[in-house]
Amino acid sequence: MSVDLVVRNGNVVAGDEIIRGGGLAIESEKIVAVGATAGLPDARTVVDARGAWILPGVIDPHVHFRDPGLTDREDFNTGSSAAVLGGVTTVFDMPNTVPPTADGKAVQEKRRIVTPKARVDFGLFGLVGQDNVDAIEEMAAAGVIGFKFFLHQAIEGVAPCDDGALLEAFERIARTGLRAAVHAENAHIIGRKSRALRQAGRHDATANLDARPTVSESEMVERCVAFARSAGTKLHICHATSAETVAAVGAAKAKGLDVTAETGPQWLTFTQDDVAQRGTILMFSPPFRLDADRVALWEGLRSGAVDMVATDHAPRHEHEKICSSVWETKSGFIGVETSVPVMMTAVQQGRLEIVRYARAISENPARAYGLWPRKGGLRVGADADVMVVQTGQTRVLAADDLHSRLRVTPFLGAAVTAAVTHTVLRGALVVDNGRLVGTPSGQDVRVPDRGTRR
Ligand SMILES: [Zn+2]
Ligand SMILES: [Zn+2]
Repeated sequence: MSVDLVVRNGNVVAGDEIIRGGGLAIESEKIVAVGATAGLPDARTVVDARGAWILPGVIDPHVHFRDPGLTDREDFNTGSSAAVLGGVTTVFDMPNTVPPTADGKAVQEKRRIVTPKARVDFGLFGLVGQDNVDAIEEMAAAGVIGFKFFLHQAIEGVAPCDDGALLEAFERIARTGLRAAVHAENAHIIGRKSRALRQAGRHDATANLDARPTVSESEMVERCVAFARSAGTKLHICHATSAETVAAVGAAKAKGLDVTAETGPQWLTFTQDDVAQRGTILMFSPPFRLDADRVALWEGLRSGAVDMVATDHAPRHEHEKICSSVWETKSGFIGVETSVPVMMTAVQQGRLEIVRYARAISENPARAYGLWPRKGGLRVGADADVMVVQTGQTRVLAADDLHSRLRVTPFLGAAVTAAVTHTVLRGALVVDNGRLVGTPSGQDVRVPDRGTRR
């Protein structure tokens, strides 16, 4: 028997198991064998992992690929190219594009625009704000992966939900069976504090943290948990940044509620000391907080209170990031291509067990968003989404090595000891020895094609 592709001679992370000197076999987009290299079948294409880690392809549940409408910053081709080069095989794209993905027609139109450009599989979030709660059912029918609430500010003219709209939206989302994902920050607290800080003449980067105290996040998390509990909604907390938020999510889980949370490499790396030193490039909402918060996020990943690692990949121009006033600075920076090198370096340093990390980047987002067991692990029968990660050689992250349209990120200059060498998307080798190969073949995970791809 000869199969399409074999990846061999690596250390396979399969659930709780690490198979040293192992690999996997792939046929017709699916994994057909996982085990010791000697037991694998012949294949038309063989990838020799040469002792590297063989991990599930990353499911990044939070990216902004800026397509359509903001393609001076990124488009689905550049974003997904960077993603596969970073070991990512599935992304869930946020709806704050132009136009916003805020009704059924916009979902269909966005899918039509981005599919031919996609080098990764993807899901599309639907945006819910004050005035489009009535569009929830049609967005569900159009195949969104979940719903996104920006509770801290208006998005492309869509005002954030007040409490009445939020509860009604959660009730209606509960009936769709999909998950509500929230950017949980309290707009009133942030607005009032920002105005006071400006009037006091504060323009430095750390003023962003003073405008966004921990309670502005944790209170909104707890409110969303209360509404989700009342409505029976599956809830996801985007970018948890504080010890209090980790505790709130842990408490919700302990009550048996279906509440999940993500954090990202940036909140696991930077604190307000870095913001004070490096300035507005580290402007992010929600912000980088105290070292105790950063430590709590790592502990949350280890304990399972924090389920997922997301990048919140949000490309920005340099003039949007390097500003004389923090109030003129835009939140966000890129992340899909640097996340695995940064996180696997931390794994090498012993901050997180590799089986925990593998779950946080694959199984947990797959389960939360209804893709398990089709995606989310190196298991027989699953989509063959795989990354090979070499560790041990130190290198410095440089802009020339990245593939996003805009390459402003505070991770430039960081020393890492991990690199993605190969990525496989549903059985197709899409990154070979660190180089992009093939043409875009990504699909919307909610609209699987019927075997017409090849
Ligand atoms: Zn956000
Ligand atoms: Zn975001």
